[in-house]
Amino acid sequence: MTPRHRQTSTFIDGVEPMAPTTKQYAVQKLHVEPGVRIADTVFATLRRAIIRHEIAAGVHLSVPSLALQLGTSRSPVHEAIKRLVQDGLAKEELRRGAFVTSFSASTLVPLYEVRCALEALAAALAAERASDDIIRQLSTILDAEAQAIENDELEKHIEIDMEFHRVVLMAAANPTLDEMLMQIYERISTAMIARVVPTGPEQALADHRAVLRAIAARDSAAAGAAASTHVMRVGSQLSAKRATTFLELKTPQSAKKDKKRVAQ
Ligand SMILES: [Zn+2]
Repeated sequence: MTPRHRQTSTFIDGVEPMAPTTKQYAVQKLHVEPGVRIADTVFATLRRAIIRHEIAAGVHLSVPSLALQLGTSRSPVHEAIKRLVQDGLAKEELRRGAFVTSFSASTLVPLYEVRCALEALAAALAAERASDDIIRQLSTILDAEAQAIENDELEKHIEIDMEFHRVVLMAAANPTLDEMLMQIYERISTAMIARVVPTGPEQALADHRAVLRAIAARDSAAAGAAASTHVMRVGSQLSAKRATTFLELKTPQSAKKDKKRVAQ
């Protein structure tokens, strides 16, 4: 089984945070390329491990342990963790240090429900309005997506996935829809990057191909349905998680924060 086939879903509510052990991080000793800052390499290494779920949600990012395991001093690790916090992939807790972010299904489900309807509309409008140039651009994006999957470049795949959706949205040529979907993207982007529900890159590519086929065939209904199926693949898994973990294992503080975020 290659890492890209690993199907973990530890990012949702209800996961028990892992207890720290001496070798808890699936990271190797650092190999720093000449001319590259150590902190940048540490950041890239940790980000990659989080995206690949090799460091699970809820895990404490201990500066001394990581420095020891990566074979580096503490300050580049400290800097890298600060950047992970800025990006939303880790969360700082008062006097406890940083932890890999756990995403809450109850926060994400409403966002995915709305995203689903808006993406369906975007794809339907794109089927009516996309120029031949845009259709070629979408096709090139999907070739790049296939290549990224072939090369097992998961981070690149995530970027290409997002790019595909942005270009479909551009093709829909509706500024109001653009504004609404960009707002949703902003709020789910970290969860997307962290692959909160890893449906598998191959499945995503097959879904994107179905959307593009319908857009190229100028079939609005089929394009909308394909986009909806694609987004709901993640949405329905999140809903299932919410149903099974209704009593969330969350601190009162983080639950309050989540409520605030939804109300924004
Ligand atoms: Zn997608």
